[in-house]
Amino acid sequence: ATKPLLSISNIEVIYDHVILVLRGVSLEVPEGGIVCLLGANGAGKTTTLKSVSNLLRSERGEVTKGFIEYRGKRIDRLTPNDVVKLGVVQVMEGRHCFGHLTVEENLMTGAYTRRDGAGEIQKDIDLVYQYFPRLKERRSAEAGYISGGEQQMTAIGRALMARPNLILLDEPSMGLAPQLVEEIFEIVARLNREQGVSFLVAEQNTNIALRFAQYGYILENGRVVMDGTAESLANNEDVKEFYLGLS
Ligand code: ATP
Repeated sequence: ATKPLLSISNIEVIYDHVILVLRGVSLEVPEGGIVCLLGANGAGKTTTLKSVSNLLRSERGEVTKGFIEYRGKRIDRLTPNDVVKLGVVQVMEGRHCFGHLTVEENLMTGAYTRRDGAGEIQKDIDLVYQYFPRLKERRSAEAGYISGGEQQMTAIGRALMARPNLILLDEPSMGLAPQLVEEIFEIVARLNREQGVSFLVAEQNTNIALRFAQYGYILENGRVVMDGTAESLANNEDVKEFYLGLS
């Protein structure tokens, strides 16, 4: 069997030395896949993504058990920067654009780990605009003054500037109108098909996530309580009762 692109094996995560938040989480993202991580507020989705990108330490969190592999190699001891250099980039929940920079300047910040020339970087800016034409129109606007949907697009565009193989996308639907959520997931699907970018998407919006992902995991209280193909989860009675129609 071919190795998965990302594999999380039985990790435990503790904040502040005492708060056990992940209690043995395992999951896989195959090369070229879109996998969703579902669960209620506080289930541990963000913590799972941050364990992969190694962003826990700044929040006094640590992986205390288990391990994480990317293309078969351990990455859980790398710095956040080195994880990005490997091609794994997180798009944070709440988008975190630099409000006083323009949209285009925000995109440029995504290229910070790259050592190639301005020409290559400009090519990728154009690629981002190809997928997000709306950002091209808004390129000179300060990110603090654009809409929530445009900020989400800017955040994804910025991640693309690092030339990722895997994007960890945290609640892209948060606070956005259904039409816009649809638009953003369509673009994610196109990036997956046309650019070969794989995605691990944390979502509370079970409905939309299961329409665009091939596979899903459901987290409850820091444990994976169910996983399966998107189709099997969408048809599962428990999933329907507890998760669909909630958002
Ligand atoms: P959300 O939709 O709110 O992002 P989530 O499923 O992503 O939910 P996490 O953000 O991973 O959940 O949080 C899981 C649990 O860990 C919650 O109980 C939360 O209060 C706790 N937690 C998160 N960050 C910290 C932190 N820095 N210090 C202590 N506890 C934290």
